[in-house]
Amino acid sequence: MTTVNGGISFWYAQEGVPAPREPLPGDTQADVCIVGGGYTGLWTAYYLKKAVPFLNIVVLEAKFCGYGASGRNGGWLYNGIAGRDRYAKLHGHDAAVRLQQAMNDTVGEVVDVCAAEQIDADIHRGGVLEVAHNPAQLVRLKDFHATELSYGEKDRELLGARETAARVRVAGAVGSSWTPHGARLHPVKLVTGLAAAVEALGVTIHESTPVAEIRPKHAVTPYGTVRAPYILRCTEGFTPNLKGLKRTWLPMGSSMIATEPLPEETWAEIGWDGRETLGDMAHAYMYAQRTADDRIALGGRGIPYRFGSRTDNDGRTQPATIDALREILVRFFPQLAGAGIAHAWSGVLGVPRDWCATVTLDRSTGLGWAGGYVGSGVATTNLAARTLRDLIQQDSGQSGPTDLTTLPWVNHKVRRWEPEPFRWFGVHTLYAAYRTADRRESTSPTATTDPLAKAANRISGRH
Ligand SMILES: Cc1cc2nc3c(=O)[nH]c(=O)nc-3n(C[C@H](O)[C@H](O)[C@H](O)COP(=O)(O)OP(=O)(O)OC[C@H]3O[C@@H](n4cnc5c(N)ncnc54)[C@H](O)[C@@H]3O)c2cc1C
Repeated sequence: MTTVNGGISFWYAQEGVPAPREPLPGDTQADVCIVGGGYTGLWTAYYLKKAVPFLNIVVLEAKFCGYGASGRNGGWLYNGIAGRDRYAKLHGHDAAVRLQQAMNDTVGEVVDVCAAEQIDADIHRGGVLEVAHNPAQLVRLKDFHATELSYGEKDRELLGARETAARVRVAGAVGSSWTPHGARLHPVKLVTGLAAAVEALGVTIHESTPVAEIRPKHAVTPYGTVRAPYILRCTEGFTPNLKGLKRTWLPMGSSMIATEPLPEETWAEIGWDGRETLGDMAHAYMYAQRTADDRIALGGRGIPYRFGSRTDNDGRTQPATIDALREILVRFFPQLAGAGIAHAWSGVLGVPRDWCATVTLDRSTGLGWAGGYVGSGVATTNLAARTLRDLIQQDSGQSGPTDLTTLPWVNHKVRRWEPEPFRWFGVHTLYAAYRTADRRESTSPTATTDPLAKAANRISGRH
């Protein structure tokens, strides 16, 4: 079987790219201008329009809605948020517990809105299963499990090797942690359904309209300028392409493969009837889902970062990355050694210097943004959008502070990334260190995390 490489993503190969929407026809005015038509931009348009139906909202999208990570991800709708532990240090444990609780609720919110808007995104609420493969990973798994409980997750379960196998028979798994706060979904069905829902509400979406520069009250494109009191930047991994923002968030690559549909006999061996999203405790971790049509879609780091923050090639990934992901697949499920890989692709996520997701509205300029989700944006974008809605309503005098506007990730400031070549060198060294640490841990009888990974975490500011 030949593997299709790129073409945005497997999810688009399945669904087809929708008919393009008209570009911006010229200069125009709006109440709110949203730059970027991924989950962040579209959810924000959705909640603002629902709250204030007469608002004139314009979304400007460089390519088409869902071109970015929102149309390429692993479909883990789950309660993880980048930076929670740091927010606990900065704002106290209780503030971080509130943030975690908001994320737990967000999983249900996305499921409920999809049902209300009749967006069929193949959602299956089977929770999240994270497995450990070796003694060092098991220690990290137990720490991770205890940490999650300390943030108020009462319904999480720590499973031994046998209980793990009863869910998914991952070769060599020595234990796992399962939480009900997660669901599997089809990323493109969500983003295209959301774009249609937003349009049906009366929001204007212009595609093929790249914004070159954002200034207070202005979004400048080659076709004209949108003037609006609020300009919201929702460009995640593509943010460095905007004027003056090269070092704001680092575009980190992540790649995926999808197998051909697997036969019933194979599923009888593997299990996975609960269709949990599946991850592991490696430093260079993997993530996977059992799709609605019975494939395995599995992802991990490819080339993590391109020199000069270059972003995209329509989803192509390197042959070596496809081999590496196939190796992980076969390590997890040895019976898949001969399985065909139907598709491989990649996308970019946004990584802030301190690895903390943020949502901000600068009340003095009307400029807002949300992102830096690292690898956890499918649910977090929804929380960010509802928060942006509340911040705008507060700023325009329609409401006061809310439970969302007072969460610790709101208006968080972070320093920029280092200039090149330090940025390129730093990220490549970091991931080389993680890969080496994973390799050493997989053959080590001791249960301690490899010192190389600890050093990498300290230097990178990741933990
Ligand atoms: C391979 C991969 C797997 C992932 N798996 C998961 C997962 O399983 N679970 C999870 O929680 N998270 C996952 N993520 C992360 C998650 O997909 C993202 O955090 C989320 O989709 C971010 O949404 P967004 O709208 O902020 O950004 P994006 O979806 O990247 O959207 C940004 C949009 O802005 C547009 N744009 C950029 N610049 C401009 C400009 N100048 N003018 C106009 N438009 C512009 C882009 O074309 C794009 O459509 C994954 C990411 C990748 C890449």
